Amino acid sequence: MKIHCLGGIREVGGSCIGIETEYEKVALDYGINVGEASDQFPKDFDAVIISHAHLDHSGNLLSLSRGNPVIVGSNITRDVTIDLLLDMIKIQNLNGNHYPYGNQDVDNIKKSWLTRESIALPGMSIQLYPAGHVAGARMTSINSEGKEILYTGDFCLHDTEILEGGKPESLPITPDVLIVESTYGGKVRPQRSELIDQLIQLILSTIERKGNVLIPTFAFHRSQEMAKRIDQAMENGLLPHYAVYTISNLAHKITGYFTKYKQFFTKEIQQQKQPFNYRHVKQLHRTSQIQEPAIVICTSGFGHAGASRHLLTKWAADEDNSVVINSGYLPPDSPLKIAKEKGELVENGSKISVKAEVEQIELSGHADQLELVQLIRKLKPKKTLLVHGELEQAQALSEKISEMTEVYIPERNETICI
Ligand SMILES: [Zn+2]
Repeated sequence: MKIHCLGGIREVGGSCIGIETEYEKVALDYGINVGEASDQFPKDFDAVIISHAHLDHSGNLLSLSRGNPVIVGSNITRDVTIDLLLDMIKIQNLNGNHYPYGNQDVDNIKKSWLTRESIALPGMSIQLYPAGHVAGARMTSINSEGKEILYTGDFCLHDTEILEGGKPESLPITPDVLIVESTYGGKVRPQRSELIDQLIQLILSTIERKGNVLIPTFAFHRSQEMAKRIDQAMENGLLPHYAVYTISNLAHKITGYFTKYKQFFTKEIQQQKQPFNYRHVKQLHRTSQIQEPAIVICTSGFGHAGASRHLLTKWAADEDNSVVINSGYLPPDSPLKIAKEKGELVENGSKISVKAEVEQIELSGHADQLELVQLIRKLKPKKTLLVHGELEQAQALSEKISEMTEVYIPERNETICI
């Protein structure tokens, strides 16, 4: 059996691992790297397993839309991926780029998608397991030629307000090869409860000075999780009543899938009749509908465009306001990174000095070093490949686990035979 390390190798983004046996070629994820050509991976796969609906794991699927591989992933992964691909096409067209794919190609992807938790191919069986991280995320185990490979995709082991973490005890023990993400291989995060306290305190102090709180988030999962968290905090009296809004048509559409597929969430969420119809959080379509002061959860997640860009520009110069960054990673050119590190924004060529309180509170959906070590200690893989992480993160993790497993950090396009 051969493992082709095609993408998401020594970096975060554009994930793709090829598994080749005598009879089958299977891809584990088929992601895109922002700014790179979208046709970078081989196309001759019999099946493609999509771990979850983030575009760095699924965004390259359009380049397979004119072939006929089977695509496998959970139904919420399918529906959200379809919406994100349509949105990607829309943005490419708006930007005047000549994009070679259209809505018909997205339809083809949808038609080739099997929403199953297990599948048998000639000489190969494939099984999916919940991975935490985001709704519908799955780990994949592949059994073939007497060997077992487990691919984690992005995962976490801790529970959140709406999602249970992955369960190491339900996974196959002693796989021959574990292919594991290493995004935070060198980082130990503070306890989640500490981070949530920090968020509540920041919102409380902003409410006391009657300021606005801007929370830029991603449309998928982080937006719904943040809305639920704030809604619950108001319901429980941790926060006083205050105007709270979500603004993002894409996020609102995805919230519809969350209601439709309640089975992907915690037991508590499943018991609620309409868990994502919030009591204190209102959906708006435009920033002009906001009645200030307010807490606003909106896209885009890095402040590049949309409501978050508009509100950042509008609110940044006022010291009564605050901005919550909940992503761990920020692209170097993103307005949020520049606002945080340089205390300025550039809008239409003129500089705005940022006086609002800007705080990064990293409520991540990835395993940190402790959880990564916990998983590897439990599974006892014979060999472990570290992917989906910058080299220094992978190296830091490698040092921690080298006595438990034979660990290796592959290079891009390297093929490993087992
Ligand atoms: Zn992800």
